[in-house]
Amino acid sequence: MSNVIQLLPDHVANQIAAGEVVQRPASVIKELLENSIDAGAGRIQVVIKDAGKTLIQVIDDGVGMNITDARMSFERHATSKIKIADDLFALRTKGFRGEALASIAAIAHVELKTKTTQDEVGTCIKVEGSQIVTQEPCVTPKGTCISVKNLFYNIPARRNFLKSDNVESRHIIDEFQRVALAHPDISFSLTHNDNELFQLPVANHRLRITNILGGKTNEKLVPVDEDTEIVKISGFVGKPEFAKKSRGEQFFFVNNRFIKSPYLNHAVTASFEGLLKDKSYPSYFLYLEVDPKSIDINIHPTKTEIKFDDEHALYAILKSSIKHSLGQFNVAPMLDFER
Ligand code: ADP
Ligand code: MG
Repeated sequence: MSNVIQLLPDHVANQIAAGEVVQRPASVIKELLENSIDAGAGRIQVVIKDAGKTLIQVIDDGVGMNITDARMSFERHATSKIKIADDLFALRTKGFRGEALASIAAIAHVELKTKTTQDEVGTCIKVEGSQIVTQEPCVTPKGTCISVKNLFYNIPARRNFLKSDNVESRHIIDEFQRVALAHPDISFSLTHNDNELFQLPVANHRLRITNILGGKTNEKLVPVDEDTEIVKISGFVGKPEFAKKSRGEQFFFVNNRFIKSPYLNHAVTASFEGLLKDKSYPSYFLYLEVDPKSIDINIHPTKTEIKFDDEHALYAILKSSIKHSLGQFNVAPMLDFER
């Protein structure tokens, strides 16, 4: 019998990988924002049309790419961020898989404009179905502008599966807010169908939170601060009386990356014991810094889950430091009363 196994052509492999990385327009936003951050951008602009279904554009003032790197960036497993396997255990960048641009280019029309400081002119590249279709020098400022058009144009099932513009733009805003909350030192804007939804100047954590969630949030925030060998914790929890009926305002960031952790969420809830009404959820914006060697981010392609070396210790430290902060806050009304 003849052999039956064949290697898949690149564009097919890319399309399969894309299924994991890109679920919806919001996933594209996340990947592009992370690339801009890794590129050292100080200012990042996001422009979308029709909830990202027609256009997703991310413009940054980061390092940009030279002509060779610009072409290379669309290859699968092509990355400037890690070189050897050991690097995986000490990640300091958001990206490392070298998959995002290759995946996006397999399922959308992509236009890249980019320029480094060293280069006189920039490079403009158009990619369709994983193939570079045009490449020419262009006038463009230092940094990178990536436009992703007609997402899932070649995967009708995926395109049809997209939800209404309302739902998809909600996902985009969520993703945008997570990234913006993690990086107050970068200015961000988000424009949807020519309406400016966010214009966030460089800020500190507190100011970024209130810029996003509204000025009234400020008075609800109780600072949390802890510095141990295992973890440095900063950020805020919401005062118990402002707890919400939904989990909308719960954010963990580990080394400036938004993550989901039911386990650590439990630690926070436990620290509010006795302070919350039934079925209400405390707000929190907690920034954890740990040694990159003590975590594994490479669990899922979207990188929103993390494995910690010492989960139990983290739980205990988190719980006690929030309890401490809430305790301090509880004496505050007494002091007010005495005045
Ligand atoms: P990863 O981020 O995992 O390396 P990507 O496919 O997202 O993989 O990007 C591939 C490469 O393209 C990056 O490693 C980086 O060198 C380059 N790149 C992507 N986006 C940008 C950008 N906005 N500015 C500068 N370089 C970029
Ligand atoms: Mg990336």
